Amino acid sequence: MGDTIFTKIINGEIPSHKVYEDERVFAFLDIGPLSEGHTLVVPREPVATIDMLSDESAAAIGRVLPRICRAVCEATGASDFNILQNNGAAAHQEVPHVHFHIIPRFPDRPEDGGLGVVWKPGAFDHGAGAALAGRIAALIGG
Ligand code: 5GP
Repeated sequence: MGDTIFTKIINGEIPSHKVYEDERVFAFLDIGPLSEGHTLVVPREPVATIDMLSDESAAAIGRVLPRICRAVCEATGASDFNILQNNGAAAHQEVPHVHFHIIPRFPDRPEDGGLGVVWKPGAFDHGAGAALAGRIAALIGG
C-alpha cells in the first residue's frame, strides 16, 4: 500500500495539530471537525482496516485511548463523546489507514448535530443467533 495522508502526517511531511504520540500511536485534531475537539487516533502501522492491525498496535491504542478521551473532554468541556471507527468504503471510511475518531458531544450547543447516527435495531432470532455466536467464537479461538 502506498503512503496515505495519515502516514505523511505521522512522518511530519504534512502538518497537523498533534495532541499525543508514542512509539506506536499518533493522535491529532481532525481537519474537518464534526465538533470542537474532534480528534483522530492512528497507529503508526500503516494498515487499512482494524482487522489487519497487529496485536501490538491494537494494545497500544487501547492503552492510550481512554487517556486521550479524558483530555479531549476536559479541554473542550464536552460532557459526552462518541468513538467512531470506520472500516471500508461501505462503512464510510475515506482514508485507508486505521483511525479512531473521538467526537466530543455538546448537547447544549446547536452545532452538536455534526454526527448523525441512525440506529434502527431489527428483531433478534435466538436460534440463528446461537449458531452465529458459535461460528464467531470458533473463528476467534484463543
Ligand atoms: P474516515 O471517513 O476515513 O473515517 O475519516 C477520515 C477523516 O480524516 C475525516 O474526518 C477527515 O476530516 C480527516 N482528514 C482527512 N485528511 C486530513 C488531513 O490532511 N488532516 C487532518 N487533520 N485530518 C484529515
